[in-house]
Formats: sequence, C-alpha cells, structure tokens
Amino acid sequence: MSIVNAKEIMIEAAKGKYAIGAFNVTNLIQFEGVADAATELRSPVIIQTSVKPSKFLRAEVLVAIFRTIAAAAPVPMCLHLDHCTEIAYCKKCAEAGYTNIMIDASKKSFEENISQTKEVVDYCHGVGPISVEGELGTVGGVEDQIKVAEDEAQLANPEQAVHFVEATGVDIFAPAIGTAHGVYKTKNPKIDFERLGRINQLLNGSGVHTPLVVHGGTGLPPDYIKRLIEMGGAKFNVSTELKHTLLDATFEYLAANREEYEPGRVDVAVRDAIRKAVGQWMQILGSAGKA
Ligand SMILES: [Zn+2]
Repeated sequence: MSIVNAKEIMIEAAKGKYAIGAFNVTNLIQFEGVADAATELRSPVIIQTSVKPSKFLRAEVLVAIFRTIAAAAPVPMCLHLDHCTEIAYCKKCAEAGYTNIMIDASKKSFEENISQTKEVVDYCHGVGPISVEGELGTVGGVEDQIKVAEDEAQLANPEQAVHFVEATGVDIFAPAIGTAHGVYKTKNPKIDFERLGRINQLLNGSGVHTPLVVHGGTGLPPDYIKRLIEMGGAKFNVSTELKHTLLDATFEYLAANREEYEPGRVDVAVRDAIRKAVGQWMQILGSAGKA
C-alpha cells in the first residue's frame, strides 16, 4: 500500500502506546516472511538491513525488492539501514531509496557524534522524505552487556540526549538504556526503564516529536517490552532472533529431508518460520491490527 519512513509510523505508535518492529533481513525469503506477517496481521512494519548484507546484496537490489513487495502489500512499510558508521554509505542508501537511515556515530566523541549525525540528517532531508536515526551511549554486545548495563557512564544521559536531538535535528532517537545485541546471557537483563521514561518526558512530554528506538529486542521478556513501550519505546529492533530462525529452520528442514534436494521447499519452510516469529513480535508490540 504505502512506502513510509520510520518517523511517521512511529509517531502514530507512540501516540497509540504500541511499537513498530524493525526486523533484520539478509535475503529475499526473509523479506517475504516479514511482509507476510505484516500483511496477515495488518501491521505497519520496518524492514531493516545491516550494512554488510546491504553491501553484499547491493542497496539498489534491496530497494527494488522492497518497493515491489511494499507496492503489493496492504500495510505501510519502511526500509531501514541499521547501524551504519560510514557517512558515505548512509548517503548512498538514501539516494538508492531506503526510507530510514541510522547513522551510528555513538562510538565517537559527543561532539563528533553530533556533527556526523547532523551531516547525515541534512543530507537525507535534502534527498526526500527520509527519516534519520541517531544513537547516544553504547548498546552492549552479548559478551559485555552486563558490564555496559552496570556502567551508567555508557548509558545515554537525558540532558545530553536533548542537546543531541536539538543539535542534530535527528528524526528518531536510540538512547542506550542497557539493552544489548545478541542473546541475553541472563534471564533478567538490567534495563534502565526510568532512563528511557525520563528521556521520553524531556523530548516528547508536550507531544511526540522524536520517537524513541529500543535496540537489542531479541530475548527481552514480554513484560519488559510492555514496560519499555509505556516508557516511550516506539521501535524495537529484532535481529538475532531472525538469524536464528533462518538458520534453525534451514537446518531442521535439511536434517529431516536430507535426500530431497528441493531448495524451494527449504525456502517455503524458512519463509513460514520467519512469518510466525515476526507475527509473535507484532502481537507483543501491539502493532497487529494497526494498519
Ligand atoms: Zn542495534
């Protein structure tokens, strides 16, 4: 139905107290599986690619796939470039037709993060109705998530967050609050809910201007997700779970049908597994039925 940027569907989500899933894909079959779930559940959706698969498959090819699938789907869809640290590649993907770009300069100094993010924001806004995501603080990897969660210095400072958003003009904002990429090692990851709530209050207390992103969705308990949405989380990134779903579904099919040699049937199994996994997320996030 419609190709949208992330900001517009996230503003609706934040106002309606639900969130949009941003699902990482690395190939066409996953793309189709995510679109199947969105169509089936009438949910707005963000399909995202990391930089490596984007370069491997080529931005133009991914955009062509996205536009074809989105044109046939009855729900709003956004194509998002995730965690890009290269300004030039952010610009390339904006030119190619991605509708949301994340410039991740969070490892740089605060000043450098601001200047790099602002450069990408200004450029993308000149290209078209593209929204830009910036990040402040550090989202931990799996091995250091506990360390990061306990080290307040690496989480986003609320006052700095306001300055960052105002100075860059960023459309959507990802503050580090203790969530982590990969699989959580602990059953109860230490998430700073109040920090997200405080940042949301400062940025969106008088109306939703800059919707907030939660990274590291994989493995977050549903009650945590609900609370993060209450605190202002309007986009949840889900990557690791879909990688596992892709590979587990492939492995299980091959293990059960080792003599078959019908790659199309592996594709069917993977597409269906992705559809189910994404559908569960849409139910938890509350985006099902919102498109
Ligand atoms: Zn992330």
